[in-house]
Amino acid sequence: LARRPAAEVVAALTALAEKVSGCRECKLCTTRNLTVFASGDSQARLMLVGEGPGAEEDKQGLPFVGAAGELLNKILAAIGLARDEVYVANIVKCRPPGNRDPEPDEVVACRGFLERQIDLVQPRVLVVLGRIAAHTLLGNDTPISKMRGKWYEIRGLPAMVTFHPAALLRNPALKRSV
Ligand code: SF4
Repeated sequence: LARRPAAEVVAALTALAEKVSGCRECKLCTTRNLTVFASGDSQARLMLVGEGPGAEEDKQGLPFVGAAGELLNKILAAIGLARDEVYVANIVKCRPPGNRDPEPDEVVACRGFLERQIDLVQPRVLVVLGRIAAHTLLGNDTPISKMRGKWYEIRGLPAMVTFHPAALLRNPALKRSV
């Protein structure tokens, strides 16, 4: 897909975010506080895809604003990128209660929004953070340790899988490979 003019992309993403904010397509709508659509630059060359909102994200309506988000900012800084230079979104836009994994029906209900985001932003590279996002977007159940660091293709774009920052908080030894 060719990238559409910037103003058209912003308008289409704004309309999509509006739709997501009122979405009731799965049961996560009954427990969420705010939907979490995305953050960052819709013209970004790098797009990151995570799993779903946690408690802090659900409160603020923004992705990766808790402890994992702080670590993500440091990782990006290490390659010379500010957080607002990348586009960040999740597989599900509403918080799974108690930070459980999103369930298959929730992932199915929500994934069309993410696919539309990817098609609109058209980054040069996608980075897929963690098991849930990797399995959803690549349609397999390979352990993340075997998928990480390899190139895949998602919606016609080059995509790299790596560990989720929350996993790095639990296991700092993984940081180096990320
Ligand atoms: Fe809709 Fe996605 Fe939220 Fe489910 S998780 S209610 S599909 S926006």
